Amino acid sequence: MPFSYEIKKSLCEIQENECCKKAELYGFLLYSNTFSAEKIRIIMEHGDITNRYISFLEKFNIKKYKLTINNFHNLIIEDFDEINKLKNILNISKNIFPIFEKDCCYIAFLRGIFMTCGYIHDPKKAYGLEFLFADESLNPILFEVMNKYNLYPKKSVRKNNNMVYLKSKEQINDFLSLIGATEFMFDYINASIENDMKNDINRIVNCETANISRAVNAAVMQVNAIKKLKNNNRFESLDNKLKMVAELRLENPESNMEDLSILSFPKLSKSGVSHRLKKICEIAKSMENE
Ligand SMILES: [Zn+2]
Repeated sequence: MPFSYEIKKSLCEIQENECCKKAELYGFLLYSNTFSAEKIRIIMEHGDITNRYISFLEKFNIKKYKLTINNFHNLIIEDFDEINKLKNILNISKNIFPIFEKDCCYIAFLRGIFMTCGYIHDPKKAYGLEFLFADESLNPILFEVMNKYNLYPKKSVRKNNNMVYLKSKEQINDFLSLIGATEFMFDYINASIENDMKNDINRIVNCETANISRAVNAAVMQVNAIKKLKNNNRFESLDNKLKMVAELRLENPESNMEDLSILSFPKLSKSGVSHRLKKICEIAKSMENE
């Protein structure tokens, strides 16, 4: 079951206060596919959601709707009087900005919006809460109500749809807790902690891989430099410590500085070995200019 649907399914079990039923239904209808004086059309993916809002409609005695079920559940109200009745019940005037008396209702309004056009990515894969709806003029309402709860969404456009979204996992968590999806809030935190740990581990592994390949590249360069000195009869003129380190490197092309330091005789420190290998590379390089 997709993460987003699991959340919606659990939200369907919330018993709304009487005052909040109107607010939630309002949010749900306002951000649905069509909401005009002539037509209300809602496309729903899941039976639980359909059942919840049909029970809300029937509670307010709205019965002239048409429900078709194919891949999606399609609910249409086209009866002019029924739409007017609904608008009166929901207290919708020309100004569609919701004015509720209580805080609980603004939260229910947000929950309704999430139910109709919200989507939360599975936190195991990505962080994101998105609201997708066609009517751009509804942006300010959503922004204002979210801002009221210290949620600061951004807007964008996706596939001709208007998108309002949150990206920060803290903000998504706050939203989940606000609309009553607290059990998912913990899921969200856990999955995001797991994710961050995985990312950290990947970063460390990548970093180590990079360090190893840097070391291998350096060793290859050193071996090539020593061979060049030998082929050009310059090797014998090097001082003894350089020669000793060079021979060590040729015999142990895969060893790191620490191992070479252990193998060295007379004893050289790690940085002593490294310094001499650098010097050898410089001499080999200087031959190019001769
Ligand atoms: Zn309320």
